[in-house]
Amino acid sequence: MSQRIYLSPPHVGPEETELLMQAMRSNWIAPAGPFLDQFEAEFARATGAAHAVAVSSGTAALHLALHALGVGAGDEVAVSTLTFIGSVAPIVQRGAAPVFIDSDSTWTLDPDLLDHTVRDRSRIKAVVAVHLYGQPADLDRLRSICAARGIPLIEDAAEATGAQYKGRHVGNDGAVGYYSFNGNKIVTTSSGGMVVTADAAVAAHVRKLATQAREPVPHYEHAELGYNFRLSNVLAALGVAQLRRLSERVEQRRRNFEYYAQGLSDLPGVAFMPEAAHSRSTRWLTVITIDPAAGVSREALRRSLEAENIEARPVWKPMHQQPPLRRFPAVLNGTSDRLFEQGLCLPSGSSLTREDLDRIVTTVRRAWHTSVGRG
Ligand SMILES: *Cc1c(COP(=O)(O)O)cnc(C)c1O
Repeated sequence: MSQRIYLSPPHVGPEETELLMQAMRSNWIAPAGPFLDQFEAEFARATGAAHAVAVSSGTAALHLALHALGVGAGDEVAVSTLTFIGSVAPIVQRGAAPVFIDSDSTWTLDPDLLDHTVRDRSRIKAVVAVHLYGQPADLDRLRSICAARGIPLIEDAAEATGAQYKGRHVGNDGAVGYYSFNGNKIVTTSSGGMVVTADAAVAAHVRKLATQAREPVPHYEHAELGYNFRLSNVLAALGVAQLRRLSERVEQRRRNFEYYAQGLSDLPGVAFMPEAAHSRSTRWLTVITIDPAAGVSREALRRSLEAENIEARPVWKPMHQQPPLRRFPAVLNGTSDRLFEQGLCLPSGSSLTREDLDRIVTTVRRAWHTSVGRG
């Protein structure tokens, strides 16, 4: 059996090992230390953020963002339905109620649906917009809709480290932005995340909440309850090394997309996730859709790839379809349901070789020819 090709595996080199060892030798094996400070400073510089706070995951980052913005029981939060659970679980766990909003033709949060929804629902106290698969949502429109009603915008940039909207890095248009450094993301610290904001007071509060909300006195004094959500200094060393390769890694992922587009676009029924005119996506994952009339179903193709030891994955199952979330309101237009049925994420790691890509393209093409051959 040929070697397994994973969807989006970590991509590390000797620099990661070297900095990790430096962290170990320094004995800053704790959620504090010089690599944390360095990672935050360099991440802020790379993404144009004013303030950056390194935390233990992207999901933890959203918890902290909601808490710092005062979102809690009795509030509603409008959020993209086409996303990963990490964009939503913290909303419910904070005691708030998500209001799911469908996608537009770019697959990201539909500004028109959002506009109608915030007019109808006065309890909406925040909007979480997801830069899906690295594609920036329409930030200018979302920002003006939110600004008109004084609702803070939170950018979920978990899949979008290195993405640009109209020439500026994502993450900085709203009240708060956040990133993920999970093992499958563009920059990884195994697990990790970052909260960014232009508001120094919000940044300070997030930092305090992430470290058990300890007051600055010699004994342990707590005026409020926080979380143990800080990133480890050891993992921040990984982040520093990873960040040095950010633009290269985005280029590699975009090249994967181009290669697939050239190799598969002629197959009947196959389409690619569009890139919005205003944006430069990271192409974190290359996603295709397969028309149900194509003769090969999304699931049949996934199984053909799996049989060749190639990992592919359906598009995110929309949040309004998830059993624990079905009781919440959803404003739908059919896009996310269709994309879940038809969408497949192809292997997209920045370490994929030409041989890997050829193996994947060949396997996909064979699935088409076999099905056509059978009539
Ligand atoms: C990965 C991801 C998250 C959560 O990040 P974790 O670091 O895994 O907690 C949130 N939103 C989206 C869209 C993601 O892809």
